[in-house]
Amino acid sequence: MNQLLSVRDLKVHFPTAHGGTVHAVDGVSFDIRRGRTLGIVGESGSGKTTTALAVMRLAPITGGEIDLDGTPISRIEGEELRRTRPRFQMVFQDPFSSLNPRDRVGRIIRQPMDLLGLGEPSGRDARVEELLAQVGLRPELKSLYPHQFSGGQRQRIGLARALATRPDLIVFDEPVSALDVAVQAQVLNLIRRLQRETGLTYLFISHDLGVVRHVCDEIAVMYLGQIVEKAPAAQIFAAPRHPYTQALIAAAPSLAPEHRRRGGGARLQGDPPSPVNLPKGCRFASRCPLAVEGCRRRMPTLRELAPGQAVACHLA
Ligand code: SF4
Repeated sequence: MNQLLSVRDLKVHFPTAHGGTVHAVDGVSFDIRRGRTLGIVGESGSGKTTTALAVMRLAPITGGEIDLDGTPISRIEGEELRRTRPRFQMVFQDPFSSLNPRDRVGRIIRQPMDLLGLGEPSGRDARVEELLAQVGLRPELKSLYPHQFSGGQRQRIGLARALATRPDLIVFDEPVSALDVAVQAQVLNLIRRLQRETGLTYLFISHDLGVVRHVCDEIAVMYLGQIVEKAPAAQIFAAPRHPYTQALIAAAPSLAPEHRRRGGGARLQGDPPSPVNLPKGCRFASRCPLAVEGCRRRMPTLRELAPGQAVACHLA
């Protein structure tokens, strides 16, 4: 099977204290082929991180299906989920808060192998050294504590820990947004090199279009819990079709001016509507410079406009 991850009509809804429902993720579908990277972008509150957490089974799934290489990971529980965990791992945004400050780095990287019983215990320390070398750190650094490393090195340690279980899929949640620009490039190059060497599949969450452009094969743009545009990365930047994608590209400081111009110059105004009281029609209508009356009455569905490019807009 060419697809490694298949997500269908995923929903993550939370009840509010006042009897309402937050539609954090509201009917999201996508596939990722083996050895490829799908980026999910959007403003904060778009549902991109909740989608990543749901794929990791770290957020409660209220609807839909997630299939990892034939295993329905949205439906399995208990021991079956524990046995499947090594196959999908996550790298978090803030490497410092995701590493236990009281543990030496060697123990942090070894822990998933100990918890999940992977490999012979006698071989795990050698594997830790191998993983450190794989992410560009000297093996003897395993006896140091996280605070003795720089931000970029700590993200390398997070990556080594994720690789420890030999996963098929790594989910990255804003993995370089806490790093300065020069270090970002080094970590992104490492992430790409590891994919080339090992054939890993990535789901990559970021608010930074300059970053996703660097690492992703395909991009899904989320707005208020839904995907509004999905296309190969080059196509999204060369010819964005949804007004929200155009506005994001026009406003992205990390993109070259020629890309920003292709965004059409539209600027994002105002805030998204509440995810509790959702509008009936297009969720972007209150901020869309092209909105017409019909947009407020009917919700657009995601339609394929060109091979691989799907857009949810009545006027696209
Ligand atoms: Fe704008 Fe209408 Fe398209 Fe929504 S459907 S993005 S409001 S033009």
